[in-house]
Amino acid sequence: MLILTISLQNLLNNSEIQSLLWDLIQLIDTPVSLEDINGNLLLGQSITSSTEEYSILVDQQTIGSVKGDSSVQIIARLLSYLANQEKFVLFDELTQIPNRRYFNRYFQQEWRRCQREHSPMSLLLCDLDYFKSYNDYYGHQQGDSCLRQVAQILQETLKRPGDMVFRYGGEEFAIILPNTASEGAEFIAEQIVQRIQLEQIAHSPSPIIPYVTVSLGIAVTLNSIVLSSQMLFEMADMALYRAKATGRNRYCLQTISQEK
Ligand code: GH3
Ligand code: MG
Ligand code: MG
Repeated sequence: MLILTISLQNLLNNSEIQSLLWDLIQLIDTPVSLEDINGNLLLGQSITSSTEEYSILVDQQTIGSVKGDSSVQIIARLLSYLANQEKFVLFDELTQIPNRRYFNRYFQQEWRRCQREHSPMSLLLCDLDYFKSYNDYYGHQQGDSCLRQVAQILQETLKRPGDMVFRYGGEEFAIILPNTASEGAEFIAEQIVQRIQLEQIAHSPSPIIPYVTVSLGIAVTLNSIVLSSQMLFEMADMALYRAKATGRNRYCLQTISQEK
């Protein structure tokens, strides 16, 4: 749980930084607080005076102090501190795309938003086909570079600002498409299957075609009120399993709807 004890409204006039910070707050769950130099917790107080000195605490540890008219400085320090914390690392080292931790948070955030707004949401799970034999044949390093290439292609396929791709596990990627119903999700999935195939990344031992291919499972929810995000994920996983079982190099779709 995050306890942000800075009154942002009063602290910040800069709306851009304010929204940047709020975005960050959505992603972290550590107590952040601000004290004056005498150790008084400035809980929800406005900090507009320009001569005071403040300490910034994260998880009860002082990470620095700031002085003067420093609202922007405080935020900048917080951001840089948080960005450097191991547990806040949100990007995958190998592919440089958002990682599973980022996925978990973004998924919950978008799930809640789509529920509130009664808008559909699509989740795609994308898994490389016969990637074990790719590694066995070409070696692990080549496997790594293949994963990087696939991650790049996946990112290029997404166009809307809210659409995001994550490295979920080893050779598995997750894609979140907020405000997107099955038509849009199927369009993207088809594009991904095609683009990966067109890239013609050699995969000699693949029994499908001698190039790298992927399989996708799509789950789409509309009127998600009585359903859980967990269920959406399971549906996507089931759809992925079907795509694998029915020949790979394709997508399968699972729709969730409250309609009887
Ligand atoms: P399927 O078509 O059913 O998905 O078969 P598969 O061989 O892709 O699936 P399996 O789960 O058997 O193997 C996944 C392989 O992915 C095993 C592992 O060597 C490889 N892999 C996972 N993470 C990495 C990674 O970071 N780098 C490399 N090079 N390979 C990885
Ligand atoms: Mg695989
Ligand atoms: Mg897999």
